[in-house]
Amino acid sequence: MKKIILVLALFLGVASCKTNPFTGKKVLNFYPNSQLFPTAFAQYDQFLTENKVVESSADAKMITKVGQRISSAAEKWLTANGYAGYLKDYKWEYNLVDDKTVNAWCMPGGKIVFYTGILPICAGERGVAVVMGHEVAHALADHGAQRMSAGTLQQLGAVAGNVAIQDPQKREIFNQAYGVGSQVGVMLPFSRSHETEADRIGLQIMAIAGYDPTEAAELWKRMKANSGGEAPPEFMSTHPSNDTRINNLTEWAPAAKAEARKFGVTTFQ
Ligand SMILES: [Zn+2]
Repeated sequence: MKKIILVLALFLGVASCKTNPFTGKKVLNFYPNSQLFPTAFAQYDQFLTENKVVESSADAKMITKVGQRISSAAEKWLTANGYAGYLKDYKWEYNLVDDKTVNAWCMPGGKIVFYTGILPICAGERGVAVVMGHEVAHALADHGAQRMSAGTLQQLGAVAGNVAIQDPQKREIFNQAYGVGSQVGVMLPFSRSHETEADRIGLQIMAIAGYDPTEAAELWKRMKANSGGEAPPEFMSTHPSNDTRINNLTEWAPAAKAEARKFGVTTFQ
């Protein structure tokens, strides 16, 4: 049995590597969008029905506007780099939820939630663009699907190679990877490498969208000043540490601006 699982794991691993367009790295991912997105979309809709969505306030409109600018910047970058059509199954949606938690997250396929609690730290549209860029980057880089793939490898004995997440067992893996179910909508922290990757990609797409990427380090300084209490999951993930993040983001900002210039963006809001 062990041998069968090992062979199956190797097969899935070999058959299911996908190149991350932003890093050029091959990553383990055997959840195609066609399987993952319908589950994510259903979970997102359910989350919205169970939480207080802020409808059409100035803040809610601003979240949508920033989201649209960031996702169209991502599309421009992908098209320019030979990945036209990469986003064809994405169904972008940006919602503001009335909740004092300092958090934001994005489910696979571009389903984004901002909590009102993160808005004071964003301190305006530019800060929202930092958070939006980071969250959109997790979705673009398939970090959720990779986490599920790793989780599935661990559980292969139980799931016996059936990777259709329409069945309840598979949905359980989705729920574990996304932290939905037991604690509704609480996105678990990603790994350090995924966080760092999302910071870097996010910086690039916010710059292409015309937002000043030097704001990212400023946002994390405000986040650091605010993080006296308990750190909520995902956005306030303790890894990388705030200081590492601030240093990285400061160092990468000029490159993000240079990338944006290739798209004709020369002034930053
Ligand atoms: Zn993150």
